[in-house]
Amino acid sequence: MTLLRSLIAALLLLTAQALVAAPPEPFAIAGQRIAPGTRADVRIIVPAGRDGETFIPLTVIHGTEPGPVLAMVAGVHGFEFASILAAERLAERVDPARIKGTLVIVRVANIPAFEGRSPNVNPVDRKNLNRVFPGDPGGTQTQRIADRIAREVVAHSSFLMDVHSGDGAEFLEAFVGAYGGPLATDFPLALRVAQGFGFPNIVRYSMETQAQIDRGRSLNRQGVAMGKPTILVEIGQNGSREEAHVAAIVAGVENALSILGMIDARLRDPASPARLFDGTTAVSASHAGLYHPVDPRPRPVARGELLGIIRDYTGREVERLVSPVDGYALYGITGPPVAAGDDVVTIAVPTTGF
Ligand SMILES: [Zn+2]
Repeated sequence: MTLLRSLIAALLLLTAQALVAAPPEPFAIAGQRIAPGTRADVRIIVPAGRDGETFIPLTVIHGTEPGPVLAMVAGVHGFEFASILAAERLAERVDPARIKGTLVIVRVANIPAFEGRSPNVNPVDRKNLNRVFPGDPGGTQTQRIADRIAREVVAHSSFLMDVHSGDGAEFLEAFVGAYGGPLATDFPLALRVAQGFGFPNIVRYSMETQAQIDRGRSLNRQGVAMGKPTILVEIGQNGSREEAHVAAIVAGVENALSILGMIDARLRDPASPARLFDGTTAVSASHAGLYHPVDPRPRPVARGELLGIIRDYTGREVERLVSPVDGYALYGITGPPVAAGDDVVTIAVPTTGF
């Protein structure tokens, strides 16, 4: 009996060792298999459909040991350059011989918008990629891009990081949004990764209803829908390409690799404790015309405070926009162009804790 027990114990130990020592598998994505310990450039082809073929350039850094799959997506909006430059830098810096798991870097999610220097929308079909997830393989080009990203990138990831800036003619103060609430996965992990960026603001987006996830679904809400811990990273404004913003994203992603246990590195301490917000509320325009903001900068605003006016093309005032809450104007448009339905200012709602 003792001998049998010893034999079983020895067998179990051998099995455990075999599991640990098992050579890691290649990483499969977009029809390619990437060998452990290597870096590979992958091009996801978005088939021609009714309005032309395009592609999504990725770099996959596949480690020598198993671990999480972090997807860092840049350039969902092709005029938000800090993320795209950070993706380029990370693709060179992260060493496949030194990571556990896999880093999937989408260098530019929206190539037609990037090459077309087009804020907000893909110039081919005038759609906002960040409103059409999960996409449609039979839809227009933007919907087909979303479909490829959802199936090839989000589906293969275990943590999703969607990186943006203030777009053209937008102001923005750096923040990280972490997805929480009953319909999100692992908010505590998302919050830790968010804090690792050291940005001055953190917003919890609490997902309480399916409608919140589905309405004009963004890439980050696609991550939530697919059960991935997800953060939204926002830094830079008005089509800028400042080195400090690029460096801040690179540092945040490297801290994320550490927090997720993918590299052995000491975490850099965040510069300052972040202001915490529980969700945001957007003030929308009902008229098109010329928007005249009172002060198009990030700042505290009070309930009832005038944010700006809209004049029509005869110069007549047609709308006054006021803040519905006490909060912090985190981002918004600087104008002057405004269309009916545009979110003019997005106000984060302060909280003392999560
Ligand atoms: Zn964006």
